[in-house]
Amino acid sequence: AEEVGGGDKEVVRNYFNNSGFQRWKKIYGETDDVNKVQLDIRLGHSKTVENVMKMLTDDGSLNGVTVCDAGCGTGCLSIPLAKEGAVVSASDISAAMVAEAEKQAKEQLIAGNGDIAPVMPKFEVKDLESLDGKYDTVVCLDVLIHYPQNKADGMIAHLASLAESRLILSFAPKTFYYDLLKRIGELFPGPSKATRAYLHAEADVERALNKVGWKIRKRGLITTQFYFARLVEAVPA
Ligand code: SAM
Repeated sequence: AEEVGGGDKEVVRNYFNNSGFQRWKKIYGETDDVNKVQLDIRLGHSKTVENVMKMLTDDGSLNGVTVCDAGCGTGCLSIPLAKEGAVVSASDISAAMVAEAEKQAKEQLIAGNGDIAPVMPKFEVKDLESLDGKYDTVVCLDVLIHYPQNKADGMIAHLASLAESRLILSFAPKTFYYDLLKRIGELFPGPSKATRAYLHAEADVERALNKVGWKIRKRGLITTQFYFARLVEAVPA
């Protein structure tokens, strides 16, 4: 696979509006029509969401806290955030993803079902670069994989500029083992490998955060057989 520079984003948008949407909707869903690998990824990803919810709620109640869920996918994080009373702005480059997230939020966020009446997240079709405003917390899960390191720095700086007190990122860590797996994967590309995957060294992500005056406060690592995610929570230094 060749890096297509500025065209990368169009490829990603197109993928997540079509075959990628079908694939990831299944993985992030609850239906039985997933294979072993997809089920493993579903489990790993749900652990990431759980970890993020714990990081956020450990700090205190989310009631009324503004959260930007950048690259929200089908709403796996936005919906539990709203259940905790957070005021969520959820966006994604893929219109199909946003429509699915909105549909699921409407089904799952029924007022009067818990102690806190959930506020319906505000859903928008938007790429990360066009996000603006200020949020108490910005979260961006498993999106960096679509950004080569030279673009990741700018993306991290932009997300940090939107956050007032917390920025949470998850990314596929560039460790020797995973790097090797990925290379093997590239030698035998399957039909689902429609987009390039970029791994990131934790040190590179940390440097990008430090450069814009943020420091890492908490770290987590989520691994299953086929899912690897490094989780970092950053705060203003
Ligand atoms: N964050 C969600 C979660 O963890 O459930 C979804 C993760 S999914 C692997 C990656 C998502 O990032 C897709 O929904 C895709 O459309 C979105 N995405 C990729 N590049 C993006 C960009 N430049 N701006 C906004 N969203 C983007």
